[in-house]
Amino acid sequence: MARPFASSADLGEKKQSLEVLAEGVYALTAEGDPNIGAIEGEDFLVCFEALATPVAAREWLARLREHTDKPIRYLVLSHYHAVRVLGASAFGADVIVTHDKTRELIAERGKEDWASEYARMPRLFKEPASIPGLTWPTATFSDRFTIDLGGDRGDLVLAYCGRGHTEGDLVAWLPKERVMFAGDLVESQAALYTGDAFHRDWSSGTLGEVASFGARTLVGGRGAVARGEREVAAAIAQTRDFLAVMLRETGAASTLREAFERTHEALEPRYGSWPIFEHCLPFNVSRLWDELHGVERPRVWTAERDREVWDQLQS
Ligand SMILES: [Zn+2]
Repeated sequence: MARPFASSADLGEKKQSLEVLAEGVYALTAEGDPNIGAIEGEDFLVCFEALATPVAAREWLARLREHTDKPIRYLVLSHYHAVRVLGASAFGADVIVTHDKTRELIAERGKEDWASEYARMPRLFKEPASIPGLTWPTATFSDRFTIDLGGDRGDLVLAYCGRGHTEGDLVAWLPKERVMFAGDLVESQAALYTGDAFHRDWSSGTLGEVASFGARTLVGGRGAVARGEREVAAAIAQTRDFLAVMLRETGAASTLREAFERTHEALEPRYGSWPIFEHCLPFNVSRLWDELHGVERPRVWTAERDREVWDQLQS
């Protein structure tokens, strides 16, 4: 029997958990659905990620408002993917911050990505008609962007660590609390999506840069919060291993179909039961195949191309 396309048949609500990671530092995890966060400044809030629609974002904000009523000055978006950015209008933030490349990617492929992600995982798009349009950053940076949180709260540092999950991922780092929000550059007990990735950079220099911060608490893009240096190291190691297995198996194959089968077989024992594993793998292998055959930048995913690749590999 054919597998249902991507996560189109995944309609079960996930349980959301709001965790206080340090004083004024919040994360909302949801059993493998995209994680989000917030950091209190002295008299303002920084929100991290925006979910897929304003309606979904407002549910998160209602929970956050049980802890703080400070106004939202900054909304930080780790990368351009629709399920993380299209809820932005709900925040009413003064400033929306991304990496320079994220702005370029939104301009280049934001519309296509929206249609692609909606079809792949419709459950995340609560009341899709509430999305007013693409989300545009109002401040961007290339290397570092520092927000002084005021009082004795220290800085929030937004940093670019190299090409990885996309061409323009950022991490948010709280040096005082040693807490990192890593976006989709690190997953903790959730499968990786690498359909827009640069596997070789990500698995080497970029993850090395992420690790060099020495986080004691790490919120990845999906999955549980990693607490303590051992769990942080394990989350980074898991991400690196997933990429290394993909590179090894796809690199040894002589056709795309063989690449998919080999990679699936090698990853499945360890990662097969993790959220979105089957959903992601055809898109992941397709992109890695391109990368290993000289296609420098990821090709744009459209709803049509998604179906073609799915039918070709995951059937
Ligand atoms: Zn992503």
